[in-house]
Amino acid sequence: MLDLPPSIDLAIIGAGPQALTLVTHLLQKRARFRPRFVVFDPSGTWLTQWHRQFAAQAIPHLRSPAVHHPDPDAFALRRFAEGRSDELFPPYDLPGTRLFQEFCAEVVQRWQLEQRVYPAKVVQLLPIGEGRRSRFQIGLENGSVITARRVLLATGAGIPQIPDWAEHISMTYPLERLCHAQQVNLNTLLLVGERILIVGGGLTSGHLAMGAIQRGATVTLMTRRWLQEKLFDANPGWLGPKYLKGFKAEPCWLNRWHRIQQARNGGSLTPTMMLNLRQAERQGKLVLEENCHVVSATWQAHSEVEPFDDHSRQHWQIHCDNGSSQSFDRIWLATGTRFDLQQHELLQEVLTRYPAEMVQGLPVLDFSLRIPGCECFIMGGLAALQIGPVARNLFGGKLASERIVPALIKG
Ligand SMILES: Cc1cc2nc3c(=O)[nH]c(=O)nc-3n(C[C@H](O)[C@H](O)[C@H](O)COP(=O)(O)OP(=O)(O)OC[C@H]3O[C@@H](n4cnc5c(N)ncnc54)[C@H](O)[C@@H]3O)c2cc1C
Repeated sequence: MLDLPPSIDLAIIGAGPQALTLVTHLLQKRARFRPRFVVFDPSGTWLTQWHRQFAAQAIPHLRSPAVHHPDPDAFALRRFAEGRSDELFPPYDLPGTRLFQEFCAEVVQRWQLEQRVYPAKVVQLLPIGEGRRSRFQIGLENGSVITARRVLLATGAGIPQIPDWAEHISMTYPLERLCHAQQVNLNTLLLVGERILIVGGGLTSGHLAMGAIQRGATVTLMTRRWLQEKLFDANPGWLGPKYLKGFKAEPCWLNRWHRIQQARNGGSLTPTMMLNLRQAERQGKLVLEENCHVVSATWQAHSEVEPFDDHSRQHWQIHCDNGSSQSFDRIWLATGTRFDLQQHELLQEVLTRYPAEMVQGLPVLDFSLRIPGCECFIMGGLAALQIGPVARNLFGGKLASERIVPALIKG
């Protein structure tokens, strides 16, 4: 395991694809930066959360094309995939899950980063000192404390969005019977004969629906709007100047926030997933309930119908806005996540000392993605007011690195 010095230059919190992208871009520009940073992640390895979520939802391939990945050379993945064209999926060579995993392992090896992740959760981030002597005191879950001159926050996943009706269920129920998509692991579930309600119209709903059907369940997929069909979650114009030029020129942060919402426009399904779902619908394994939402859900722990009747088992009784009432064995909320810096447990003390302007939970960062006034950099969805709607995606990591790396090298 990496030895932890008492004082370091840069502490990177999180070892997901965003952090890996930053590190490869940094080393490409300044190889001698290597001894000056430490990456912290409870797993002690790179991309654990990424691999976990792809496995848990049985996702066969990425939604983004083969040129989006953590290496600075956009074509590195294509070269790595030579002879494996069957693992690049149409229409834009979307990398298969295993191909991407093996490529990222090769990136980690090639940049000699295998031993760079220190296995610990950061539990405290305290700004100390003044002016040129200002530092961050970093408390780890194992009790160790170190100081760092600069910090990069790449902690990923937002906060699960839970619909009001689900927040307000008063009775107790087995926790695994109502979960957010982040908590579902298809690989641990036997679903033969079960009726599952999946709420939400994004690609995660589609993956969970197909995975549940393959495991023997029948699924109802319920969406507030009509299902939206899109290749990518934001138009590719957001990867370059086509849309980003106007976005960056927009002086009003609230307008920028609205543009991000419009660009992502809630969840959407890829054409391939739409095809799979329609086929499952024709086979009677899936019901698509569009323009419909749950009003209330009640857990029926004891049934009044005949014992041994199929409906006598414990179940959810849900009522919808269209007046219908239905029973389900499980409810999965594929209702997305939101980013809110004010709720980020690590940043409270930093924000007290360096208050940042907030727009709908997103911080107004400086050009180099720092909280203004201090050396705390932020990547991922929380940097969206500067990076745009793809901030949380793989390509967002590249756009963020292009701003952060020059500041790290200069400082
Ligand atoms: C199912 C799914 C599929 C996706 N597919 C794509 C895709 O095909 N293409 C695309 O571009 N994007 C995709 N995304 C979006 C995005 O790229 C991923 O969510 C990606 O994992 C985000 O990377 P990240 O580094 O920001 O966060 P994460 O991968 O979540 O990594 C953050 C890491 O930080 C660690 N961490 C958190 N708190 C602390 C702490 N206090 N101390 C230490 N470590 C901490 C976590 O343990 C985690 O390992 C997908 C997202 C999901 C959910």
